[in-house]
Amino acid sequence: MSKILILGGTAEAVALAAAVAAEFGEGFDIQTSLAGRTKSPTVPVGAVRVGGFGGPKGLTRYLREQGFNAVIDATHPFAARMTGNAVEACAAAGVPRLRLDRPAWARSSDDDWYPVADLAAAATALPQLGRRALLTIGSQELRAFRNVRDVRFWARMIEPALPEDLPADCTVLTGRGPFDQASEEALMRRYGIDILVTKNSGGDAAAAKLAAARSLNIPVVMVARPPVPPGETVQDVAAAVTWLRQMLR
Ligand code: NAP
Repeated sequence: MSKILILGGTAEAVALAAAVAAEFGEGFDIQTSLAGRTKSPTVPVGAVRVGGFGGPKGLTRYLREQGFNAVIDATHPFAARMTGNAVEACAAAGVPRLRLDRPAWARSSDDDWYPVADLAAAATALPQLGRRALLTIGSQELRAFRNVRDVRFWARMIEPALPEDLPADCTVLTGRGPFDQASEEALMRRYGIDILVTKNSGGDAAAAKLAAARSLNIPVVMVARPPVPPGETVQDVAAAVTWLRQMLR
């Protein structure tokens, strides 16, 4: 029986587990690994394990002990530490690895984007760009905005952040996407948002906020992705299944 580890935490990882099960049937052992950040994650097909491995060494040990034939890293484009650990551990354990990385969003001619290298740069640029900011960066990285003054924040996240991580003047909006353009526009209008801050996560599920900002002429601070890891990368689930088929032939 072939055994595959999917590093998850994304809609693509859930779709990949379903696609692998549909393609290879019961002769395939699928395990998805989640970091354990959200209390009620979407549960994928197959086995699920939760929690960190203990760095690259812990993951190397886990891969050897469990005898995986392949690893597909389908973590979020900004989960750079996990991706780096997977590169190192798969090389050490001699397990083939594929990166599934959804395409980044591309700016259209109607977009008013301010590209920045990271969240710290976004926080520095923000007071010059707007006074009422919608943050859609998740709950883990709000700390970068803690010391920004003269900006009122609305921070949207799946589960509430720790109060000590929030900027001084911040309203938390909890909600899980996908959101549509009409509801995103309504939200931006309701709070008088004049600047949107987002990481360039890519994908359709979170793209409606960009369409809403475009239609309301709201500028967007767009945080660039971390560097792409070495090795083979595909951009969608179908290509990942093809890779798996060829690799296990
Ligand atoms: P990260 O900074 O790259 O990883 C930090 C540590 O969390 C890793 O070193 C690893 O611990 C553990 N970890 C991360 N992903 C894991 C996984 N799938 N299975 C087991 N352990 C994992 O990750 P992050 O940015 O905090 O993201 C955490 C999870 O949330 C990821 O699975 C990611 O796909 C998902 N997510 C992230 C974002 C985002 O914007 N960053 C957005 C949506 C979903 P050890 O070193 O102990 O193994």
